[in-house]
Amino acid sequence: MSGTIRERTEAWEAEYLSPYAQLSAKSRGRLRPEEPCPVRTCYQRDRDRIIHLCRAFRRLAHKTQVFFSPREDHLRTRLSHTLEVAQIARTIAKALRLNEELTEAIALAHDVGHTPFGHCGEEALDVAYRAHDPDAHFHHAEHSLRVVDVLERSGQGLNLTHEVREGILAHPKALRSPSEYLSEGPAPSLEAQVVRVADQIAYLNHDLDDCLRTGVLREEDLPEEVLQILGRRHSQRVGRMVLDVIEHSLDSPRLAMSEEVAHASKVLMHFMDERVYHSPLLEDERRKVRGVVQQLFDFYMSSDEALRQVVGEPPGDQKLRARLVCDYVAGMTDRFAHAQYVRHFLPSGFPSFDV
Ligand code: MG
Repeated sequence: MSGTIRERTEAWEAEYLSPYAQLSAKSRGRLRPEEPCPVRTCYQRDRDRIIHLCRAFRRLAHKTQVFFSPREDHLRTRLSHTLEVAQIARTIAKALRLNEELTEAIALAHDVGHTPFGHCGEEALDVAYRAHDPDAHFHHAEHSLRVVDVLERSGQGLNLTHEVREGILAHPKALRSPSEYLSEGPAPSLEAQVVRVADQIAYLNHDLDDCLRTGVLREEDLPEEVLQILGRRHSQRVGRMVLDVIEHSLDSPRLAMSEEVAHASKVLMHFMDERVYHSPLLEDERRKVRGVVQQLFDFYMSSDEALRQVVGEPPGDQKLRARLVCDYVAGMTDRFAHAQYVRHFLPSGFPSFDV
């Protein structure tokens, strides 16, 4: 057999994968052209870069999923969420004969732009950033793309392929149930659509599981129709949703779900939104998060010395400075943001041993 191992893999993809799959050999390429790897396809290489080179990926271990800075070791973090999304997305992609490595690369990178303190931190950062630059805004999906394109490797970026970058940007602008997302229309590639659905299946189920395990919710609180349709155990619910998407999307150019499972997932989504994501019980914590993010942002905007210590010489232009501060605060983990707040806003006593 002739050709490199990569060329053989590309030939196998052309023969075996679905006509709706994105073939590695048909990639639109990278921002800066590079010599192909003799062994790995371009998407395998992207996946490996995210795992080995992306510092923002490693920081996901200390970023909130739902519970802020959890002290309980078994609760999901952004990193375990990302791994669950990648696992679900690969299962669906493989069953539909889509490009598994492209799917995995998108899934692993989809949340690298997340702020500390989850969606609450994201909203607070958006407000703080706009206050210093009225033309600016912050959204985690756009920031994930900025991380891989610009911020990683000291400003060089990871130089990922067009299809992975497009898939990162395509993930949802707001919380949606899988069925609500599916009715929104197609994302750029089927692989990107798979990651979006997998993201929703993952967070809906693992957030529910975390709430049940910590006693925030009890099983008897859940809508009975959700339990009847999706199942009474976490693994049953995930399995039912994944299998349903696969069965209704085989040999099709778009993803779909049955009406019954779509309905149950929508009911569960609205239940979680009311009881957890926007619950008044968490309002006090959200108020504190808004305060921390806002004050840290304002502090780095006003203190040349503090900014110089962490990112170098501050630019004179206020918009450029706000962009820099936004990138810095967005990159913080929950515990790092917490430590910076303590350091800059709470008296440490004198003489101080922990400057
Ligand atoms: Mg996600």
